[in-house]
Amino acid sequence: MPAPSAPTVPAVALDLDAARAEYQALLAEGLALDLTRGKPSGQQLDLSDALLTLVQPGEARAADGTDCRNYGGLVGLPELRAVFAELLQVPAEQLLACGNASLQVMYDVLAHAMFTTLPGGERPWAQESEVRFLCPVPGYDRHFTLAARFGVTLVPVALTGEGPDMDEVERLVAADPSIKGIWCVPKYSNPTGETYSEQTVRRLAAMPTAAPDFRLFWDNAYAVHHLTEDRVELLPVLQACAEAGHPDRAFVFGSTSKITYAGAGVAFFGSSTANLAWYSALASAQTIGPDKVNQLRHARFFPSTQSVLEHMERHRELLAPRFAAVHEVLEAELGPLGIASWTKPLGGYFVSLQVPAGCSSRVVRLAKEAGIALTPAGAAFPGGLDPQDSHIRLAPSFPSAAEVRAAMRGVAVCVRLAAAELAAQ
Ligand code: PLP
Repeated sequence: MPAPSAPTVPAVALDLDAARAEYQALLAEGLALDLTRGKPSGQQLDLSDALLTLVQPGEARAADGTDCRNYGGLVGLPELRAVFAELLQVPAEQLLACGNASLQVMYDVLAHAMFTTLPGGERPWAQESEVRFLCPVPGYDRHFTLAARFGVTLVPVALTGEGPDMDEVERLVAADPSIKGIWCVPKYSNPTGETYSEQTVRRLAAMPTAAPDFRLFWDNAYAVHHLTEDRVELLPVLQACAEAGHPDRAFVFGSTSKITYAGAGVAFFGSSTANLAWYSALASAQTIGPDKVNQLRHARFFPSTQSVLEHMERHRELLAPRFAAVHEVLEAELGPLGIASWTKPLGGYFVSLQVPAGCSSRVVRLAKEAGIALTPAGAAFPGGLDPQDSHIRLAPSFPSAAEVRAAMRGVAVCVRLAAAELAAQ
């Protein structure tokens, strides 16, 4: 599924007066709808409520007898690591179960790389005159914020529908030793929904890099978040890197934030043995061990890999109608006009909507005035700046399907008005 580009010429003439009248009618509806953040709905959270009772007094021992209430166990509970190893495509012995947020692990890894030399590296990144990361766009705004926090310069690279433009990636990393990493959301990407092809993964694993300590920041946040019966496959990156002679190239992140509880799940970190030794030595100064009681209740909730996949089917039953609502309303309201295009993702949490160049900030503003909160225009680009001002990230997971429908009808009115205004200039 290629990333849609910004439509430019309306297929049919738009009547500005009619578009304004429609918008006035929308304002009169007094809507209050929110499509901003990719949060699970309450119904999705309810699916995991057994977590609240799975560890009772007297039941806090793990399979090997470890008392989970006590200190220790930096690598996390073995039974939980074994279940998620297959899903995250990391051998269990190379996968750590951590705290509740993979973003925090990403932050820690970046902070450690700033101050401590990575395996294969020559010096800590903070001692370089500049550190740059490639960021496929549109991408995840919190990756950009995290990098900015450490003064990392972000270099945008276009997404193609099967991952980043690899000719461009290979050219940049081969020439520039200050490029130390790339942000990747390789499956059902946030926000384009695309999955990296086998060829993309192999090229990322094999490409020569000028930096000896270059890393793939492989954020597999949506590894099992299918929206259709077609479970899209991703090539295992650690294996591809090892086969290409770069065993230390990938840092793999994941979590159960959108599997169980977004605020009380378990994060995972996978990598090569050398990278894990580097990380664990540093992490042991931060904590004596993760929250093993939380890990234990997750291990009891998910006794097998299959049980996770079955649980994700329940999520799909709740999410698929919301995504269908986005597509159906956009198709009916905007399809014939040729002024917008959008993704129809097979998984993940987002739809990318492209409106005519120069229009997305106007659409988001119009929607806000009409009571429909959308992710700020440009949020999926470094610095919040979409050079074309044409991309809007839609997050339909949290509202009900009926609310999604109402919101999308309103968004369509705003797109028609913004496009009509542009055409009239
Ligand atoms: N990575 C991506 C790509 C995400 O979209 C999100 C949440 O939206 C996260 C990470 C956050 O993960 P966690 O809750 O494990 O920190």
